Amino acid sequence: MKKILTTASILASSLSFADVTRYIFEVPAATREERTYIANFGFALDEVQSDRVFISGTSYDRDLLNRSGLKFIERKYQDRWEKADVKAGTYRSYNSVVASLQNLASNHPEIASYMVLGKSFEGRDQPMLRISGVNPGQAESAKTPAILYQGCHHAREHLSVEVPLRFAEYLINNYASNESVKNLVDHREIFIAPIVNPDGFFFDYTNGISGKNWRKNRHPNSGGSMGVDLNRNYGFGWGGGGASDDPNNDTYRGPSSFSEIEIQNVRDFVKSKRHRMNSVMDFHSFSELILYPWGYQYDDISNAKDVQVYNKMAHQMASWNNYTAEQASDLYIASGVSVDYFYGELGMTAFTFELSPNSMFGGGFYLSPSKIESVFTSNLKPMLYMLEYADNPARVLTESVPSWLLNNLDQKTIKTASYEDLIEK
Ligand SMILES: [Zn+2]
Repeated sequence: MKKILTTASILASSLSFADVTRYIFEVPAATREERTYIANFGFALDEVQSDRVFISGTSYDRDLLNRSGLKFIERKYQDRWEKADVKAGTYRSYNSVVASLQNLASNHPEIASYMVLGKSFEGRDQPMLRISGVNPGQAESAKTPAILYQGCHHAREHLSVEVPLRFAEYLINNYASNESVKNLVDHREIFIAPIVNPDGFFFDYTNGISGKNWRKNRHPNSGGSMGVDLNRNYGFGWGGGGASDDPNNDTYRGPSSFSEIEIQNVRDFVKSKRHRMNSVMDFHSFSELILYPWGYQYDDISNAKDVQVYNKMAHQMASWNNYTAEQASDLYIASGVSVDYFYGELGMTAFTFELSPNSMFGGGFYLSPSKIESVFTSNLKPMLYMLEYADNPARVLTESVPSWLLNNLDQKTIKTASYEDLIEK
């Protein structure tokens, strides 16, 4: 009797969790057209290889693959943080990120202030740090060049929070001692918004050990499903390929362009600064890619000079982090994405960085926390480079990269927070 009860209780518990069990689906695809065909069913293509793509999903996605008639292989889901990794540090929780930004501001009021992009659907701050040696009024009258670093459109991409956050810490901690950093901070207005999607991030975060593999925000859809893909909700090319109209899907684009409050807030902030903000860096994970427009169509950017700027910048940055630089649609079509809006609608220079690792089987969305520091370090020069050219990215066509950026940065000056205090008890 006891045994039967135990079996029954195991069955009940496995049934109640059946909908969140994760799988990796491997689907053959060798061209961007084949990948776009797959993406158009509403899948998030989490990893692209030369002859196949990988999708991390649930039984829902398996059913969708079956209904789509696509051939696929099912693999065991592996990307979980090990408990032991927490000793090496942790990914910060929502509250820890907000506290980190607020502490930076209160400890360095001369150059840092805490702001918000706005409030999320569930009412959380979309936290942001302003870093500048110029006060806000002066920045406006002097037309100080501004730049935005964003992270975490997608809830499970915790590394995309840590990298811009550590960049804020780097700039502030090195301001007094590093002349190049001081010069940039004193002549730029830097906005770092590491969590565009606070509700999704909060939902996905599980004590720094593992996540729920959530991608979208937490806005309930009519029909009972949850969430919109915030990087399919921007209003340039919205409603095209690689963005689902089915609310159940991971790449659901929302009922209309800019339907989501989180993306309305990004749009309104950037537009308010656009007269002196030329550049955006948008962090995601994973795959080790530097992507530039277009995402929504295969055609190249038609403006020849802009193509040159994008190519030059992307390849220069790739020389530092060894990522692959390419037009986003070379992977597959994805519409309603941030960089298309920033470039196509607002004429800005905008990059998407897909951070480490390069594979689902090397940690995927839940790369070991022990790797955060090295991923940050390998992307530091690209972030500083974007900052250097934030006044006019087209300068890269006529001027050589400053020698301080080509030389080794003094690694010893990179100081980041102690993580022991940041693990949520
Ligand atoms: Zn992403």
